[in-house]
Amino acid sequence: MKTLLPFNLVYASSIDDASAKLNAAKGTAILVAGGTDVMPVLKSRILPTYPQTVISLQKVAGLDYINMDTDTSTLKIGALAKIVDIANSGDVRVNFPCLSEAAGAVASPQIRNVGTIGGDIMQQVRCWYYRYPNEVGGRINCLRKGGTTCYAAAGDNRYHSIFGGPKGCYAASTSDVATALLALDASMVTNTRTIPVDSFFDPLAGTVLGDGEILTEIDVPTPPTPTDVCGGGEMENSSWQYFTKFGRRASIDFAIASVAVLLTFTGTMCVNARIAWEESRPRP
Ligand SMILES: Cc1cc2nc3c(=O)[nH]c(=O)nc-3n(C[C@H](O)[C@H](O)[C@H](O)COP(=O)(O)OP(=O)(O)OC[C@H]3O[C@@H](n4cnc5c(N)ncnc54)[C@H](O)[C@@H]3O)c2cc1C
Repeated sequence: MKTLLPFNLVYASSIDDASAKLNAAKGTAILVAGGTDVMPVLKSRILPTYPQTVISLQKVAGLDYINMDTDTSTLKIGALAKIVDIANSGDVRVNFPCLSEAAGAVASPQIRNVGTIGGDIMQQVRCWYYRYPNEVGGRINCLRKGGTTCYAAAGDNRYHSIFGGPKGCYAASTSDVATALLALDASMVTNTRTIPVDSFFDPLAGTVLGDGEILTEIDVPTPPTPTDVCGGGEMENSSWQYFTKFGRRASIDFAIASVAVLLTFTGTMCVNARIAWEESRPRP
């Protein structure tokens, strides 16, 4: 049976406080927001070292906003905004339909009610070698866990990247929201810097965040008014957005493939196309 080991649970009062606590712990602590990914990760004991301290962001006030900044035409989403609130936000649905669709496609209502956008973006990959529970036959020390081998490369690589493993690891991100944010050219704001989404993810580490660095906000530039029609006069000076996801099951399933598209038109000419996809290879 999967069980948690003892840890100290501490509540951060602010992002600065959380960062200070992370730095003081020197790699022996982990952040928790909604906990829907952290708890299974701890139960399976897959992290290189089991954290002594879990630092909760749940009492950090005012980080769950979804605001349109009209001065900069930017949608600003606090890292603790719930996925359900993003899916249901009128601003998001009208101006960023692919993000609204992606948020609505995440997991189940229960997980969307608890899970945060920060946690969805930062979730650990779903590779079964990486996630292999420690208590069943011992730990699989794959490349991602500090070993030297990606067992998926020559092993069971359903749900792994079909475009290769840039740093030797074939695990693919399973964040639906991240796929939409890539198409929308978002920026990730942390307590120390702003990172374009294109540079945010790392094939092996997950993300480029450093020690004590915490995702605080996601900024999404507003595209021209979305149109449902891709073609003809109605697309003039508009944008066309699309998100879709394919999974084995119609409900509660990680994507085998998901794609998000943003086409931007000046007049009737497409002047910019951003297409982001997350893919993996199912067993034939
Ligand atoms: C059954 C199931 C089905 C799922 N299906 C899908 C799916 O279809 N699509 C999809 O996209 N996701 C899916 N998920 C993943 C789910 O969306 C995530 O577990 C959830 O969004 C994580 O949010 P959380 O707030 O609970 O994060 P937590 O579990 O609290 O944290 C997740 C990770 O993010 C880190 N973290 C959290 N907040 C921050 C921050 N502000 N800065 C830096 N690091 C941070 C934590 O340390 C941890 O490593 C599924 C999960 C489950 C359990």
